[in-house]
Amino acid sequence: VSNNPVGIHYQVFTSVWQGAEMDRTARRAADAGFDFLELTCIDADGFDVKGTQAVLSACGIGAMLSTAMLPENDVASPDRTISTLGEEHLMRTLEIASELEAPWLVGLTHSAWAKASEAPTAAGRANSVDALRRVTARAEELGVAMGLEVVNRFENNVLNTAAQARAFIDDVGSPQLHIHLDSYHAHLEEAGQAEAVEACGDRLGYVHFGESHRGRLGAGSVDFAAYAGAVVASGFDGPVAFEAFSPNIVGDEFAPLLCLWREQWQDSDAVAAHAREFIAQRIT
Ligand code: MN
Repeated sequence: VSNNPVGIHYQVFTSVWQGAEMDRTARRAADAGFDFLELTCIDADGFDVKGTQAVLSACGIGAMLSTAMLPENDVASPDRTISTLGEEHLMRTLEIASELEAPWLVGLTHSAWAKASEAPTAAGRANSVDALRRVTARAEELGVAMGLEVVNRFENNVLNTAAQARAFIDDVGSPQLHIHLDSYHAHLEEAGQAEAVEACGDRLGYVHFGESHRGRLGAGSVDFAAYAGAVVASGFDGPVAFEAFSPNIVGDEFAPLLCLWREQWQDSDAVAAHAREFIAQRIT
C-alpha cells in the first residue's frame, strides 16, 4: 500500500480562496478522501494566512502551496530589478508555506507563468539560478521542500522538460530542490509518460495528475498506466495531487490564464471523487 499523500487543487471546487468559501472547499476535499489541499499563492499580499490556518485545522486536512510569478515579477528576467521582485515573491511564499505547515512549495518557482514571445536568455536563467540558491537556503532553514514544475511551451519557456529541470537543479546545487512533474504538461513535451518520470530520476519530488484537456482523469489522451506505473516503479513516496479545471468554476480571472475556452465538467464533487479512486487504483 502506498504512503503517498494524495491531494487536490482547490480550484477543482472554487474560484476564490477566501472567506467562507475556504471552509466549504476544505470540507469538500476532505469528504472526497484527499489528504491535502493544494493552494496557490500568486498574490502574497492578498493571501489570508490566519484564515487558512484556522480552516485547515478545523477540517483536519493538510496543505501544499503552489505559486507562479508573472512577467512583472519574473525571477528569470534578465532585468535585475524584475528578477529581484521574483526572488522577494518566492521568499514570501516560502514564509507562507511555513506558516501553513505546508511541507512543499511547488509550481512556477523558476520563472514566469506566461506565453513567451521569445526564447529564454542566458542572463535571465542565470538570474533565476542565482536567486534560487538564496531561496533554497531559506527553504532549508524553514524545512520547506521546493518543486520546480515542468510546464509546456505555451505557458513557460525556461523548463519544458524533466531533463531541463534536472540540469537547472544541478546548477543551483541544492538538495532542497526537486522536480514537480505534471502529466498534462509532459503529454505535450516528453517522449512518453514513463520517459518523463524516468528522466526525473531521484529528483522527482511532487507529482500532478492532470488530463490532456484539463478535464476528468481518463477521459483524455494521457497514458496514465505508463505515468503511474513509472511513478510506482521509481519507489516515489512523495505527494501526488490532482488538477482539473473548468472555466465556469475557476472563474473569469483564471480561465484565460489556463486557456479554458469550453466547459468540460460541472460537478466538482463527482470529478474529485472519481479522481481519488482513479489515483488509488494506480498508485498502490
Ligand atoms: Mn500542474
